[in-house]
Amino acid sequence: MKKIAVIGTGYVGLVSGACFAEAGNRVTCCDIDEKKIANLWNGIMPIYEPGLKELVQQNVEKGTLYFTSHTEEAIREAEVIFIAVGTPMSATGEADLTYIKQAAGTIGDNLTGYKVIVTKSTVPVGTGKTVESIVRERSRDNQAFDIVSNPEFLREGAAIKDSMNMERAVIGTASEKAFQIIADLHKPFTSTIVKATVESAELIKYAANAFLATKISFINDIANICDRVGADVTKVAEGIGLDSRIGNKFLQAGIGFGGSCFPKDTAALLHIAESSGYDFNLIKAVIETNEGQRARLVSKLETALGSMKGKTFSVLGLAFKPNTNDTRYSPALDIIPQLRDMGAMVKAFDPIAIGEAKKQLGNQCIYSDNVYETVKNTDACVILTDWQEVKQLDLMKVKRLMNNPLIVDGRNLFDLEQMDQLGFTYISMGRPAVQ
Ligand code: NAD
Repeated sequence: MKKIAVIGTGYVGLVSGACFAEAGNRVTCCDIDEKKIANLWNGIMPIYEPGLKELVQQNVEKGTLYFTSHTEEAIREAEVIFIAVGTPMSATGEADLTYIKQAAGTIGDNLTGYKVIVTKSTVPVGTGKTVESIVRERSRDNQAFDIVSNPEFLREGAAIKDSMNMERAVIGTASEKAFQIIADLHKPFTSTIVKATVESAELIKYAANAFLATKISFINDIANICDRVGADVTKVAEGIGLDSRIGNKFLQAGIGFGGSCFPKDTAALLHIAESSGYDFNLIKAVIETNEGQRARLVSKLETALGSMKGKTFSVLGLAFKPNTNDTRYSPALDIIPQLRDMGAMVKAFDPIAIGEAKKQLGNQCIYSDNVYETVKNTDACVILTDWQEVKQLDLMKVKRLMNNPLIVDGRNLFDLEQMDQLGFTYISMGRPAVQ
């Protein structure tokens, strides 16, 4: 049992805090957002994540999980401190370390006795050293501490599952003592520990996300070629994915990646490469292909309809992927304003992300959590998120409700033959159009 403080109670901080508590530690999750802390004490989660509410409640009742906005107190009591604050993309593409530096300062101010300070946030190579020097500068009595990089690999929508059964834990540190403490904490979750230096651990996180993003952009480039030569990208993906050296994951062609990690982490890695004097052409192309996919979907819609002016579209999906209410860098936030600029009206469906989307889109569309209400009387339906509700649509009903049976599918959800038999005009990404 360890006393743990987690600084930053967002996706990563709350999920890992709850999981460390479940494993028998005494965890205090801290946040500067007092409302978030008050809500958590009342069982209101700041994010939607399957199983999270129950896990949090059980551990609050057991007395293993606490919440506070008094980060200083939690730091003083803790043996291990995890930093899990946001590292958003700055205007120039690099990771903004403002919150990391603030957290490091607060730790330094409140260092009492030996502590292990662990960065869980995704941070550029060298941040461990920055944290170390801030803590050293701010700590009064020359207290002993060790620095660890322990990047987070959870996927939103499967965060609890991923955290309770990690494929690997990466622990980067120069201290054998700190390594043992953090390795012991991970014993209930994984048998595979990657021991590294702080710098290697920091780079592992960016390299992992950049590699996955590369797979997505690769198959999207192949899809764009398929569109030109009349091939079907789902067949191509199946054919290459069965090769175990390639694997079939992250080979779904579509409108590209969004979310809070891949766009910012690919941009940050490009920045890390540039600052080290390396021209990382591959990742530049990955970003460029990704940005082009959204425009490609809109142009497919425009080609199918002629003019967009005065048309009404149903957009299915606001979250960047299913099972989350996260809309950060979500395709919908890009595509809906484009449709509006072209003179169209938009009705938007999402089962849980409407609240988040509204913060950015305001009244640019009519929102509904009823998919059939959304498609009713629309001239085209645009699929942006592969929600279960969309995958399981009663397509005959959809056809009856729409003004015009045109679906432009950014996620390649439906079978081409079936759509043909049902009488839809069905346009997807990298597959022959059904007219
Ligand atoms: P988030 O925005 O959901 O949460 C960050 C929290 O930190 C916020 O609640 C904010 O109020 C709080 N905070 C900021 N400064 C603080 C301070 N000084 N003291 C206390 N609290 C403070 O962010 P997130 O999605 O959890 O991401 C956190 C980090 O983890 C980022 O670096 C991200 O790249 C990385 N990451 C995220 C995911 C993911 O799926 N979301 C996965 C892996 C890694």
